[in-house]
Amino acid sequence: MDNGKELLVSKIANGTVIDHINASRSLIVLKILNIRGTEGFRIAIVMNAPSTRMGKKDIVKLENYYPKDEDVQKISLIAQDATINIIKDYKVIKKYKVEIPKKIKGLLRCNNPTCITRKPDEQVTSTFTLINREKIMYQCDYCGSILTENDIIKDLTGEMK
Ligand SMILES: [Zn+2]
Repeated sequence: MDNGKELLVSKIANGTVIDHINASRSLIVLKILNIRGTEGFRIAIVMNAPSTRMGKKDIVKLENYYPKDEDVQKISLIAQDATINIIKDYKVIKKYKVEIPKKIKGLLRCNNPTCITRKPDEQVTSTFTLINREKIMYQCDYCGSILTENDIIKDLTGEMK
């Protein structure tokens, strides 16, 4: 696969490569993973790289970083085609595609301010059900409010009021 045309970004010894991120979404991916660059590990971001499958794609390489299940779930909501490559000693030891979850528990905030999941004294964990896979839309299991992809991005990046 590597025919020498790849951008000159050094290979990482250990860590994670998130490939096939929708073009220009790599910075959002870093944001939702709470990675700011101040953590000290090496980060390489490639934006708008040519892709036969996607036209253009972004790639993020994170040295000595391994995503948790919750992180992978977050990534799937922002970059539906992303592949996660776990690297050890310069070799890919695990590779898988993210999957948009049918149910999301405790990760997203309902956009309805009167929803029971938003009442601090009720202690109800939010749960959402996927209702549109193409457009990335989820419905609150409690109040029926719909979260669009934009709502989800705003929520996960902390830009929701
Ligand atoms: Zn709700």
